[in-house]
Amino acid sequence: MSTTDNCIFCKIVAGEIPSKKVYEDDDFLAFHDIAPKADTHLLVIPKRHIVNLNDLNEDDAELMGKMMLVIPKIAEQEGLVGYRTITNTGKEGGQEVFHMHFHILAGSRLPGF
Ligand code: 5GP
Ligand code: ZN
Repeated sequence: MSTTDNCIFCKIVAGEIPSKKVYEDDDFLAFHDIAPKADTHLLVIPKRHIVNLNDLNEDDAELMGKMMLVIPKIAEQEGLVGYRTITNTGKEGGQEVFHMHFHILAGSRLPGF
């Protein structure tokens, strides 16, 4: 799926579906996961519809670099000292929403790997 049609996260970006936003800039949005798997469970997404890591090309390098910088900024804003970042790629990788997102998980309920 590489289209924005019926993409839940594109609808969140467009404000058509409500979300508990914690951060927004020109390129990214972060909001609380609707079904938190940890004390803190945020999702960071690019506003542009990108399916997952496999959908990236060289032209996305700057945007992805910015994404790596915005994640710790959001974590600091939310008072997280340590946290786990996960991005699932493809159905076989556990991806359920096909608009790229990095999970930020923090708190006392993080299982070890
Ligand atoms: P994935 O399995 O694709 O890596 O993660 C998708 C995540 O999106 C899940 O943790 C799920 O709870 C979350 N999610 C799915 N639909 C919505 C929604 O409409 N709003 C929010 N805030 N989170 C959602
Ligand atoms: Zn999308």
